[in-house]
Amino acid sequence: MTKKVLVLEDESSIRGFIVINLTRAGYEVIEAETGEEALELLQKNGDIRVALLDIMLPGIDGFEVCRRIRATNSSIGIIMLTARSQEMDKVTGLMTGADDYVTKPFSPAELTARVDALFRRAGGTPAAEQAGEIVQAPFRLNTRNRTLEKNGQRVKLTQVEYAIMRMFMENPGKALSREEILDQVWGRDYFGELKIVDVNIRRLRLKIEDNAQNPTYITTVWGYGYKWGF
Ligand code: CA
Repeated sequence: MTKKVLVLEDESSIRGFIVINLTRAGYEVIEAETGEEALELLQKNGDIRVALLDIMLPGIDGFEVCRRIRATNSSIGIIMLTARSQEMDKVTGLMTGADDYVTKPFSPAELTARVDALFRRAGGTPAAEQAGEIVQAPFRLNTRNRTLEKNGQRVKLTQVEYAIMRMFMENPGKALSREEILDQVWGRDYFGELKIVDVNIRRLRLKIEDNAQNPTYITTVWGYGYKWGF
């Protein structure tokens, strides 16, 4: 199976650095210089599993590219490439559909570890995946199709959101630390920050809670992490 990754970056030196390292790590890399080009290449290459999106671009920016990808595709893994000068709270707030972000400059090891983690997540069904369902009213999680329903209505989740949801539903009532969630969902070799857990939980709450301001399904355990139910 080819492991196809899209890299959208307008600065050719950074793009070259990413391409060399991901190619070395066994990926087939599709390159784009503009957001418009990236969207076109994604349409042509339906088997791209992970996309790395720079934010500051000459045409439409990386956030807009991300939004347009997510409008039709919830399964592709998306990593935003951010600059250290960018205000992180603003970035995470705008990361409406991304699974992760990497801050430039990054090391080859960090880059490939992050892509590997997401690739595993977005890479389809692991062999050990058991067919079945976890039902906890009003939710029904189908572990074969990796889908979620609330009151019989499909809730569209990204692969990362699905993995978090599954972890919660397999551990009802148990307080899960942010570290545990990061380890299980992103993998132990993940280099990222704990904040990515909060970013994804915030988004998941918007999708599954009756009122995301007053969550009753995913509750916060202050100074520790999160819990499914009370
Ligand atoms: Ca740029």
